Amino acid sequence: MTDFTGLVAIVTGGASGIGAAITRRLRADGARVAVFDLAPDAAEADLAVHVDVRDDATVVAGVQRVIDEFGRIDIVVNNAGIGAQGDVAGNSDDEWLRVLDVNVVGMARVSRAALPSLRQSPSAAIVNTASIAATAGLPQRALYSASKGAVLSLTRAMAADHLAEGIRVNAVSPGTADTPWVGRLLDSAPDPAAERAALEARQPHGRLVSADEIADAVAYLASPAAGSTTGTAIEVDGGMSGLRLRPR
Ligand code: NAD
Repeated sequence: MTDFTGLVAIVTGGASGIGAAITRRLRADGARVAVFDLAPDAAEADLAVHVDVRDDATVVAGVQRVIDEFGRIDIVVNNAGIGAQGDVAGNSDDEWLRVLDVNVVGMARVSRAALPSLRQSPSAAIVNTASIAATAGLPQRALYSASKGAVLSLTRAMAADHLAEGIRVNAVSPGTADTPWVGRLLDSAPDPAAERAALEARQPHGRLVSADEIADAVAYLASPAAGSTTGTAIEVDGGMSGLRLRPR
């Protein structure tokens, strides 16, 4: 059991899917959680703030809002992210820059704004949501994979930079997870139920990863139980990465 009593967390993208599960989990373990999202009204949070991680002014204002409300920040979960499909020629410059802006620069913006507060925390942790796409070599995911590879590199670099300040920085790398994001992809297929069954059958353990399983890994990495763990990623993917399986 992780105990975040008295601690304050920011979860980006916390209004949906994996971020919503992380928010529920951290709150259940005693944290006060501020969700930063484009859709803050959907968030079950102690504080829901309209933040676009592409827009530094909203990020800085959001962090100030958390300080005004709660007086501290101990945990930042950089989870907001968007997808993209296609090979390297499949996206325009604008699409490349938009996805990298959300998935990579967005994490840097929120971390940068929260760092002064994290430095004051006796139990500071950042957890970034990567993806198996970072390492698996998925077909037709060039831009998305590049963005998530950068998340792993950023995680390691930040872990080195802030080690001496007592701020641990880690990542979770989910496999295909049962969230509204994947639901939208399935719904666009001619037969969503058959598509879901086929997708489940392609996973190493025969089912999609649950958002709660990812939230469990985030809670562990954010907690003092992971006090000797920094600069790494936990793969929550049914064994896809650890067993060197090929995506089918
Ligand atoms: P989701 O679409 O259900 O939720 C994403 C949330 O991020 C939404 O609430 C959205 O409003 C918010 N968001 C998007 N752009 C934003 C921005 N510019 N500023 C602030 N908030 C923004 O997606 P999800 O499946 O829960 O994915 C969450 C994270 O997990 C993403 O980083 C994604 O890349 C990663 N991931 C998902 C899967 C999967 O299979 N679902 C697998 C691996 C990694």
